[in-house]
Amino acid sequence: MKRAVVMGGSYAGLFAARVLSDFAEEVVVLEPDDIGGDGSGSRVPQRRQLHALLAQGHSQLERWFPGVTAELVADGARMGEGDDVRFYVDGRLKAPADGQRMLGASRPLLDAGVRRRVGALPNVRIVRAQARGLVLDGGRVRGVTTAEGEVVDAGFAVDATGRSSRLGHWLEDAGWERAPVGRMRIDLGYATASFRRGDELGTTVIAHSTPGPQSDYQPGLTEPGALAAVEGDRWSVVLAGYADHRPGTDPADFLARMRRCVEPLRTVADVCEMTGEVDAFRFTESVRRDYARLGRLPGGLAVVGDALASVNPVYGQGLTLAALQANSLAAHLRSGAAWHEPAWGYFRRAEVVVDAAWQLSTTADLAQPHVTGPYPPGYRLLRWAGDRLTEASVLDSAVNTTYTNVLNLIEHPRALTRPALLLRAARVLLASGGRV
Ligand SMILES: Cc1cc2nc3c(=O)[nH]c(=O)nc-3n(C[C@H](O)[C@H](O)[C@H](O)COP(=O)(O)OP(=O)(O)OC[C@H]3O[C@@H](n4cnc5c(N)ncnc54)[C@H](O)[C@@H]3O)c2cc1C
Repeated sequence: MKRAVVMGGSYAGLFAARVLSDFAEEVVVLEPDDIGGDGSGSRVPQRRQLHALLAQGHSQLERWFPGVTAELVADGARMGEGDDVRFYVDGRLKAPADGQRMLGASRPLLDAGVRRRVGALPNVRIVRAQARGLVLDGGRVRGVTTAEGEVVDAGFAVDATGRSSRLGHWLEDAGWERAPVGRMRIDLGYATASFRRGDELGTTVIAHSTPGPQSDYQPGLTEPGALAAVEGDRWSVVLAGYADHRPGTDPADFLARMRRCVEPLRTVADVCEMTGEVDAFRFTESVRRDYARLGRLPGGLAVVGDALASVNPVYGQGLTLAALQANSLAAHLRSGAAWHEPAWGYFRRAEVVVDAAWQLSTTADLAQPHVTGPYPPGYRLLRWAGDRLTEASVLDSAVNTTYTNVLNLIEHPRALTRPALLLRAARVLLASGGRV
């Protein structure tokens, strides 16, 4: 492949560029925002919100950029293991899960670390430009046009332009089909604030609180929220809420909610000084674009990151999905498939990953009283079994290890249906006097 173009230079675009650097003589990343330096010129609005990197996302980060964790830690990120990572359901600390490891870093620090490594690749150029369309000829991609009036010739193009991708319009305008879209309206509100960090929480790096079956997923027992130790000796604290319970930007309200959350967030609210403002974000719906279901597609085209699927952020899947899609792209290109043919092999692999994340997030979202569907077949049974497993995962390390591996996208959700796991969960619940 002579030249590949990646449209969008955020997390997913940078991973795609890293993969393509192994297959193309040259990779050009088109990114309209000033993402150099600390990335403060980026207009990706959610970059100011706390981003958790799931364990699988962290493994993939190291896979594609070996040694980057040490660089991030040298820049002030914190690596949490074992007890440093604390998950609470309905206000109860969950049983420890084996191999629990999570990185505490802000999204700008993470992006800067990845960008530094991609920028250092000899055959990758990051160019300040905005993609405006595809040049399609003979059923395949021949290049990308930019808003700056240029045509960048390329045999392979990747759409990594995020949730507001225009690719569907570009394809339709050129006589191709637009991908079918799946949606789930969730009406989520997010708010993040920073606090000065001392030694008030010992070695804690991550604390995460979610409502569960005991509160019927309503924030009654405890508020949903999380904190992470990040660079600059700060705690980054995020609070979430749905519909009428969305958090706003009022610092007093933010602190009051933290005091209704689990112990680590209460302590930070009481002891630490809030620095800067509360930043709020509204996320109305999860969206996926199912390119694998199209009847035809131009050759030499792939779609990654939020442009392919953007799911409820409370499950922290977005960055990990982007990395797993990069793996799918690498596997497709390595499979011997002709890169100028339609990338069905890529889209089918990526679909497996998106399906798993979508199933996890939407099944959990349907537990919210204001979320009205669409319901998957057998939802009642799924919900019933899911609630029992959640209860058992609070009490038992073995159940929680599999449960956590699934949430971390290390194991496929079908791991939760293994008879041995279900049997163990039933025993744990019976022994605790709980419902089975
Ligand atoms: C509130 C919130 C909290 C989140 N928390 C987490 C979390 O804890 N953990 C997690 O893993 N994920 C989280 N996510 C999801 C995560 O932010 C996204 O999945 C991730 O940003 C997707 O990366 P991306 O590169 O696909 O898209 P984006 O990061 O949105 O980047 C798209 C890029 O494309 C560029 N672009 C746009 N149009 C063009 C064009 N025409 N030409 C060229 N470039 C273009 C933009 O400038 C931008 O740089 C969260 C999301 C939200 C909304």
